[in-house]
Amino acid sequence: FVYFGAGPAKLPTTVLERIQGELLDLGGSHVSILEMSHRSPEFMKIVDDTVAKARKLLNIPDNYQVLFMQGGGTGQFSGVPLNLIGRTGKADYIVTGSWSAKAAKEAEKYGQPRLVAPKPATFGAIPDPASWSLDPEASYVYYCDNETVEGVEFHFVPETNGVPLVADMSSNIFSKPIDISKYGLIYAGAQKNIGPAGVTIVIVRDDLLNHALPITPNVLSYKVMAKENSLHNTPPCFAIYAVGLVFDWILENGGVEEMERRAIEKSDLLYNLIDKSNGFYTSVVDPSCRSRMNVPFRVKKDEKVEEKFLKEAKAAKFLGLKGHRSVGGIRASIYNAILPEQVSRLGSFIEEFAANN
Ligand code: PLP
Repeated sequence: FVYFGAGPAKLPTTVLERIQGELLDLGGSHVSILEMSHRSPEFMKIVDDTVAKARKLLNIPDNYQVLFMQGGGTGQFSGVPLNLIGRTGKADYIVTGSWSAKAAKEAEKYGQPRLVAPKPATFGAIPDPASWSLDPEASYVYYCDNETVEGVEFHFVPETNGVPLVADMSSNIFSKPIDISKYGLIYAGAQKNIGPAGVTIVIVRDDLLNHALPITPNVLSYKVMAKENSLHNTPPCFAIYAVGLVFDWILENGGVEEMERRAIEKSDLLYNLIDKSNGFYTSVVDPSCRSRMNVPFRVKKDEKVEEKFLKEAKAAKFLGLKGHRSVGGIRASIYNAILPEQVSRLGSFIEEFAANN
């Protein structure tokens, strides 16, 4: 079976096996990672090592903190404005899908977020950067690098004229090299590309640690978390440990450069099949911003045919292909842990289904 769910998503099989093998006794400690104190030297080493691996994989400069937080991506919809909007009270949002729209809405509780371009009726394109109205006084410019639901991904870094850039990379972090120095802050829930649900990684530049609104809860405060090495309170220990193992797997498999090469190969395969299917399969996303992680498509634009597609896919051992409840259709999520050979097998099924229907 291959699981193409959007998140929580497939983890590398070797990582799951390793977790299974050391679940009762982590490294000769006679204690399970599920039981171990977060203040123990063993666990503190796991935190330090996992940060070091993240720094190595993404070449994170020294003037950025790497934090492990809780509350998921949704927690950061509040965490970002709580920590950053205090500088001027204003923030700019580039809205290209459901998740950035939700983030902009949540920010209204803490200041004055503004959309840099009108929100389209349906998502599937990035508004032309030449048309964005950016406020030089914004505390930050926010965008979602990969919209998981609609399958819209930025293949460029937005230019903000010196205003700190904030990115939600929940569904594409560690799938490509990133020039961290172009960002003020990047965050990502772990449950797609880097581990189980429960931990959210935040990469934040040092100079942005000092603008939090006084009401910022300590558990969402970047400054508090940075000062206490992500151990202000009991962290999601198991999730952090598992993220460390996934980082090892990425390092052993050629790093983020190889993840990007595979992502291009896997997504090209699926989009080519869709485009050459004479309208049997359709993608509503503009080719310039099609996601390499989430490939949503319709089958004959017909829900009945899509139900049949999902049923036959399951019988062929392909799981988790149902589109997000808000948009319907089919969605193949092809994060790092999905191997090119597995996408190639899905591609054969997609071709056969079209031929038979
Ligand atoms: N941002 C993106 C891009 C997502 O895909 C998701 C969830 O799928 C979220 C934010 C929300 O994350 P969470 O469910 O961890 O709150």
